[in-house]
Amino acid sequence: MQNKILKIGNIEAEPGTINYGSLAEVYLPDSTEIKIPLIVVRGNKDGPILMLSSTIHGTEITGADALRKLIKILDPNEMKGTVLCLPVLNPFAFQHSVMNTPQDSYNMNRVFPGDPKGLTSFRIANLIFERAIKVSDYIIDFHANPQPAIPFTIIKLKGADVDKKSISLAKSFGITTIRMMVSNEPHRTGTIIDAALSLDKPALTVEALYWRRIEPTSSKMCIKGILNIMKSIGMINGNIEKQEGFPIIEGELSRVEITANKGGFVDIKFNAGDKVNKGDVIAEIWNPYGETVERIESPVNGYILAYPLLGNQAVATGDIIAFIAYKI
Ligand SMILES: [Zn+2]
Repeated sequence: MQNKILKIGNIEAEPGTINYGSLAEVYLPDSTEIKIPLIVVRGNKDGPILMLSSTIHGTEITGADALRKLIKILDPNEMKGTVLCLPVLNPFAFQHSVMNTPQDSYNMNRVFPGDPKGLTSFRIANLIFERAIKVSDYIIDFHANPQPAIPFTIIKLKGADVDKKSISLAKSFGITTIRMMVSNEPHRTGTIIDAALSLDKPALTVEALYWRRIEPTSSKMCIKGILNIMKSIGMINGNIEKQEGFPIIEGELSRVEITANKGGFVDIKFNAGDKVNKGDVIAEIWNPYGETVERIESPVNGYILAYPLLGNQAVATGDIIAFIAYKI
């Protein structure tokens, strides 16, 4: 039996209990206190600490639904270790239904490990880093892509022992896995994954479906993936269950991020999960007069992961049009 009380945020969790509280508090201009919600499921027996977080981007809420349902399934008396659930990492962005923090416009998943004396995003990131990531052994951060998209996980490899554990987390989760290469997408640094890896803790990003809506099959996929991971790291008993009901691309994959040169409305030419050949036109951009201004070709032989258009089905110069997975 775990004998010590685990203190995290305002929670003091005893073995065999589920606890509801907050990781930290921040404030609105009228002094209203805003909580970073925390649920600690403390198993009866010793084991790892698994951090599960969602909604660092305020429009990506499927993970919060998965965590709500997961808590009803977990029995702390039959569990080893502890699950830290953080369903809303960025309460400011969530309140406004926007991706980035409204106060400072930063993408909070680019500023880790943050700064305790910095701007809003940096402070919240630092609280998460100091109070949750540092005490956890495994970190899974839930995101979601706008439609059309297939669900996938992302790992980053750093050429160290931790890589094997990250690969194993992704394998247990059981869906398409992308090995993110900074050379392909250099702006994606300062993430929760980077913060975890800086401490040699294995970490996984889950890209579920979709923006601003809870997608029940995607929640189900997230819960199955979490339970698979908990089984694989010895927190609960049971066999790994196969993920099904959506395309899964096998093999060692990375991805390219395709951005627009011109601007306009977007015609999408493939479904998420479709195979594409190098040179295939995957999207066309047309202007308000109906004229085609750009044809976007796939630079690789691969598979469409998502057309992650964040607003309307339209782009400006430099906006992301597609993620395409390719075998490495
Ligand atoms: Zn996200």
